[in-house]
Amino acid sequence: MLRMRKYNAGDTWLCALCHPAPPPPPETLEHLFFGCRFAQDCWAEIGITWDQNSSIIHNIDSAKRRWNHGLFWEIFMLGSWGVWKERNAKIFENIAPSKRYWKRRLKADLELLNFRFAKDSQNTQLACFVFTL
Ligand SMILES: [Zn+2]
Repeated sequence: MLRMRKYNAGDTWLCALCHPAPPPPPETLEHLFFGCRFAQDCWAEIGITWDQNSSIIHNIDSAKRRWNHGLFWEIFMLGSWGVWKERNAKIFENIAPSKRYWKRRLKADLELLNFRFAKDSQNTQLACFVFTL
């Protein structure tokens, strides 16, 4: 379970992003980032799909193999961060999860990340991907 004890996040252990879809599944790492309908819709926006019957390691490995834009880890980590932010906005501010905001945040985070790369192929690769968002 992903809830932190020191914050008052309510007493439910169910996925906030699925809630109130009946029946909301428990919030697990696997569910939140790979199995959650909201997360799957977000990932699909950028062309990443997950095999629902595989382990996390296998899922990430096979998605990385299918990915042809480069910088998979950077995009995966920032996309996951965005799912986490949408989850927190729902729990702590009661803001409905938004695929549009997720994508906007991903684009902004990737643009910031692009400043870290020198003007080389990674910079160009990332800039091209961000342009497609
Ligand atoms: Zn969910």
